Amino acid sequence: MRFYKATRFLFPSSLRLRMFTICFIGTHIPLLAFAAWQFSTGKTDWPDLGIVLAATLIGTVFTLFGIDGLLAPVRAATQAVQSLEREQAEALEAVSDGDMLTELLAGVTRASEATKVRVAALDMAAHRDPLTGLLNRRGFLARVESAGDGTIALIDLDKFKSVNDSFGHEVGDAILQDFAAFLARGVRKADCVGRWGGEEFAVFFPATEEGEAAGILQRLCRRLGNGLIERPDGAPMTCSGGIVALDGEPLQLAMARADAALYAAKRSGRNQLRVGDRHILAD
Ligand code: GH3
Ligand code: MG
Ligand code: MG
Repeated sequence: MRFYKATRFLFPSSLRLRMFTICFIGTHIPLLAFAAWQFSTGKTDWPDLGIVLAATLIGTVFTLFGIDGLLAPVRAATQAVQSLEREQAEALEAVSDGDMLTELLAGVTRASEATKVRVAALDMAAHRDPLTGLLNRRGFLARVESAGDGTIALIDLDKFKSVNDSFGHEVGDAILQDFAAFLARGVRKADCVGRWGGEEFAVFFPATEEGEAAGILQRLCRRLGNGLIERPDGAPMTCSGGIVALDGEPLQLAMARADAALYAAKRSGRNQLRVGDRHILAD
């Protein structure tokens, strides 16, 4: 980089012209040395000098075309980076006095920063639920799969469809957001809450016995049933849940057991939790 920086005073914004100048000087050194020697000895041989001059000029033209050809990939890379950047308004800060290499370096740096942001946004989109901000099913499974033993719960809002039907989808959305925030606030910091789909949420309690997890959820369900989140007509929202311990079985099987427990809680009248085979009434 030192030579590159030291020669920037020659055509600061054109690497090509700078290379041409350096090549031009380099290819003319033999000619200048030959002419200087001839003049200093007083034995100027014009035909010899003419041949060296012609050879130097041919060599210079050849070198300039060669260097220009060799720069083609750098030129293409610079254009590719610039067009990549043009897609991202925030990365469009032009390099005012940069030559091709400076622009390429700056462009690659900006493009890689922008790519990091894009990857983070894609990762967010792939693992987060946009309505509630919770992990989505994929994000929840990814988190739980690497977390070891604990207890899993599936929690479903009761009669949620009637909220949509009676008050509209937007009211339903707001209740889903409130419930998601309530659930996320109500569990412990180490616990993991996700939106399993629709009005169904999943909670993972790492290194926690079924009974302890059920106690936490029971308190939450009780508070909910007491009117913490209400429909516009004043009726309290309630939820039902299925809770199972993860005991070394594949996660999908545990989720299926939790779903079966949830289904049993629904069949038994809703507003209740079922831990494996046991019922726990929320009120
Ligand atoms: P149950 O007590 O048996 O769970 O009855 P339910 O009405 O809660 O369950 P059901 O499966 O019959 O209906 C779920 C409803 O949730 C239907 C669907 O339109 C609604 N839903 C799913 N996702 C969303 C969403 O993102 N926003 C809103 N507003 N509604 C949703
Ligand atoms: Mg429901
Ligand atoms: Mg449901």
